[in-house]
Amino acid sequence: CGIVGVLGDHEAAPLLVQALGRLEYRGYDSAGIATVNAGRLDRRRAVGKLVNLSDLLVHDPLPGRSGIGHTRWATHGAPTVTNAHPHRAGRVAVVHNGIIENYRALREELSIGGAGFESETDTETVALLTQKYLGEGLPAAEAAFKALSRLEGAFALCFLFEGEDDLMVIARKGSPLAIGHGAGEMFVGSDAIALAPMTNHITYLEEGDRAIVTRAGARIFDAHGTPAERTVKTIDIDT
Ligand code: GLU
Repeated sequence: CGIVGVLGDHEAAPLLVQALGRLEYRGYDSAGIATVNAGRLDRRRAVGKLVNLSDLLVHDPLPGRSGIGHTRWATHGAPTVTNAHPHRAGRVAVVHNGIIENYRALREELSIGGAGFESETDTETVALLTQKYLGEGLPAAEAAFKALSRLEGAFALCFLFEGEDDLMVIARKGSPLAIGHGAGEMFVGSDAIALAPMTNHITYLEEGDRAIVTRAGARIFDAHGTPAERTVKTIDIDT
């Protein structure tokens, strides 16, 4: 029930786990992270407390300075490793809070197109849909935006791509999402509390917003796809 993202100049995994720890108050049944390291996308997931994910990372580290993380509160599919986020299809990994209401229809459409599902989640349809558009030749952000345009329901989403060390795509519809601005680093979190150790310069996405985030900053678009100005606030949170 929490999302975090990092485009940093240090290793992402410890920052992601720390930020997820600050979202523990929301409750969760499993957790996971994905990173891009020299272009290579990989992930680690564990059921139960965050310490299980930390232990896994000790034995099987996940290098890379770009990454996304998730604590899951299962709505579709049991709390298992296979159902834990990030969900991956081909070149894309996705973390999601909320529910994709039309996932059954999308799942059927994708299955007819030959897509193979690993999990029982609504979220995996987002990854497979995005991968379908990547496979059709769309650039990463366009593929994610096209997938987003097909989703119904309430969600906060964060996408990470193989081969893209400096890109996250994020979206907010019915679930809050904040962008944190560092010095040559960018962060994403379900709330500013998660990001407080990294930065106190925060932009809150508005309902329906989506954004292309790189280390240089965030390009935000409103629900109609029009470029949108959102203020950067300096907030005061105890770390
Ligand atoms: N509906 C998704 C799932 O069950 C996301 C749940 C959440 O918000 O953590 O995996």
